[in-house]
Amino acid sequence: MARRGMTLIELLIVIGVISVLLALIFPALIRVRNQAQGTICIQNLKTLSLAWLLYKDDNEDHLVGGEVGKNPHDWVQGPMGTGTFIERKKEGIRRGALFRYAGEMVEVYRCPADQRKLELGRAAYRSYSIAGGANGEGWQNTFVQARKYSEIHHPATTYVFVEQDDPRGWNKGSWVLNPQGKTWVDPFAIWHSRTRSTLGYADGHAEMRRWVDSSTIEMCRKRELFYPVPPSEGQDLRFMLSGFPQKTTEAQHARAGFRLPWRFASTEMHVRQKRSAPQLSGNSYN
Ligand SMILES: [Zn+2]
Repeated sequence: MARRGMTLIELLIVIGVISVLLALIFPALIRVRNQAQGTICIQNLKTLSLAWLLYKDDNEDHLVGGEVGKNPHDWVQGPMGTGTFIERKKEGIRRGALFRYAGEMVEVYRCPADQRKLELGRAAYRSYSIAGGANGEGWQNTFVQARKYSEIHHPATTYVFVEQDDPRGWNKGSWVLNPQGKTWVDPFAIWHSRTRSTLGYADGHAEMRRWVDSSTIEMCRKRELFYPVPPSEGQDLRFMLSGFPQKTTEAQHARAGFRLPWRFASTEMHVRQKRSAPQLSGNSYN
């Protein structure tokens, strides 16, 4: 008996069924992948935050340097050694002051959701930066950096590590904001479901934060510095302002909390537009 092949209609039905199945399975797979990446990222920042605590335990309360390659005691150095861009960046991590406290694992410095390694000309490896107020880079004298752990008053709500997608190709200097300002200075990275970032805290814990303002998402997507916040928004900026590490007295900390929420002054927007080129880092390793 001769075997009959599939008719075109049957073939189209089969293709249709397969498409429907794939459409059902793919979002589930993406969800699982996103969850796994989030878990690893939180674990990475927990490891780095604990390493950051161990460093000060070993160094009479002094914090590890929060800049990149400016001082020998900085948590990471700039790209160095030989090899590919990525290899040189990994070597800079290995020579950083935090490496031995982080179990000598270069992998914990990279978020698995960070896609920059695959982008031409943006071969970044390290996904995380230290907030400038934690013994890092300043910003136009708008805050005093904490040099010692005892200068940070609320470690459980003060973040140290931020996910950063530096528009200059790799994360230079520190992640900064202006504690007296009403606009952002540096954008951060939202690699998790395009709405979330992980933060590592001064008490050694890490958590993921979902951003709520559309201007925050837009800033991160565009990787733009000095991003304005419309008057109807500001929840994300207020959150980051309240947890920014810096040297404060207990009274100053309370006053900073009291100051929020604020309203925008037109002069602030004017100052932002007049500001000259970003001065995020005096270092260059490229
Ligand atoms: Zn991440």
